[in-house]
Amino acid sequence: MWPLEPGRDDVLEMAGRAADVVADFLAGLPEAPAFDTADAESLVEQLLRAPPDQPGGLDGLLQEFRAAAAKAAETAGPSYMAYIGGGDLYTAAVAEFLTRATHRFTGLAGLAPALVAMEESILRWLGLELGLPSSSVGQLTTGGSMGTLSAFMAAREDRLGERIDDGVAYITEQTHGCAAKTARIVGLRPHQLRVVPTSADLRMDPAAAEAMIAADRAAGLRPFLLVASAGTTNTGAVDPLPDLADAAERHGLWFHVDGAYGGLFHLVERGRERLAGMNRADSLVLDPHKTLFMPYGTGVVLVRDAAALRRAFAVDADYLQDLDDDRALPDYADLGLELTREHRGFRMWLPLHLHGLAAFRDTLNEKLDLAEYAYKALSGEPGLELPWRPELSIVAFRWRGLGRGDGAAEAESANQELLRRVNASQRVHISSTRIDGRLTLRLCLLAHRVHHDRVEEAVDIITTAARAIR
Ligand SMILES: *Cc1c(COP(=O)(O)O)cnc(C)c1O
Repeated sequence: MWPLEPGRDDVLEMAGRAADVVADFLAGLPEAPAFDTADAESLVEQLLRAPPDQPGGLDGLLQEFRAAAAKAAETAGPSYMAYIGGGDLYTAAVAEFLTRATHRFTGLAGLAPALVAMEESILRWLGLELGLPSSSVGQLTTGGSMGTLSAFMAAREDRLGERIDDGVAYITEQTHGCAAKTARIVGLRPHQLRVVPTSADLRMDPAAAEAMIAADRAAGLRPFLLVASAGTTNTGAVDPLPDLADAAERHGLWFHVDGAYGGLFHLVERGRERLAGMNRADSLVLDPHKTLFMPYGTGVVLVRDAAALRRAFAVDADYLQDLDDDRALPDYADLGLELTREHRGFRMWLPLHLHGLAAFRDTLNEKLDLAEYAYKALSGEPGLELPWRPELSIVAFRWRGLGRGDGAAEAESANQELLRRVNASQRVHISSTRIDGRLTLRLCLLAHRVHHDRVEEAVDIITTAARAIR
């Protein structure tokens, strides 16, 4: 029997049993199948049951959790190279346990100022690292999408004001889908979103962007938001940020940089070079739940003009009148959609302070090296083509056939087959996308548990599969 309020012995007992589950889980990661949802139906059926009236048994319930977590894509392990996955640090989970157990409210600074300071310290450190002015503000969000909502609201408020039906925003075909989704949420209709052409390297063409902006302005519209990618989801392409920042400045547009995947590579030298110009953003989104190996639900938004973000979200509420304003620290409720929110600061603060930044820089450098290695190794395989050299840690490739004049349909089915064969190995899981209308496979080397041995194995699996197809 476990009462709602356990005594000290029960607290330790429960945590110990949960820690056992975690230790077993972590020990099993290297050998875990890369993707296993086979025969999940009976478990799904079982877990859709309503909660019982009477108490259940802790061990049995924990076993059900283990079984449920096992029927999944192994998003925590060394085999995960699909989409964009960062793994999840054990130390962040420990921090999360403490955060959840202490139940502090961090929507308003006055209720837990020192915990708010932890979150704020991370935002200030990131702002400084990335070269944003110290006047910038932001918050930890649930992810890149929510950060984009804050950024677009600030842009809309600042550049359009009350009337929004003549505003125009600019993206590319490679821009993450959250931009179009968020544009809709902040009130733009589809015709208010322009898709700027990209060059052959999949980066936004600044001259084309400027021409579209000028044409829209001449037509009486109000161009207001230019969205650049600091690392696209498809291939990790970095838009020409300095040129786009210039263009935005010349035409009075808000310059938003989507660094959800790539922005945190700024922490290492090679990344800094590739991401030059990111510091000119009016707003910037980062995803520590990708590129700093944090738990899902950890994003960042930073906005250069604090007043713009505040204007977009602050409201007066009589029921909050007892709470002192502590001007040294922001009330996050005034800077985003959430009032009641989870405290996201400690889950980042503990790993960053405990491991030190060098450990994170080393790991990010390792991922850049791994991408370079995989690119070279796959390039040596005659049956594959790799049209884009990785700028960050994503390696895109596709089956090219062997010069027999293979048609588009044949290439399509060959790439489907290649994907199927690679993932059937259960040692590596990769994903596909569509670029220039063609099916393209990609390896995203980002998770902290992905190391050289597994990437070597992945290369081997891919080349073997490619040869089997021809
Ligand atoms: C993942 C991603 C997003 C969306 O972020 P979420 O954290 O999934 O909401 C936006 N942009 C890019 C480039 C991404 O990779």
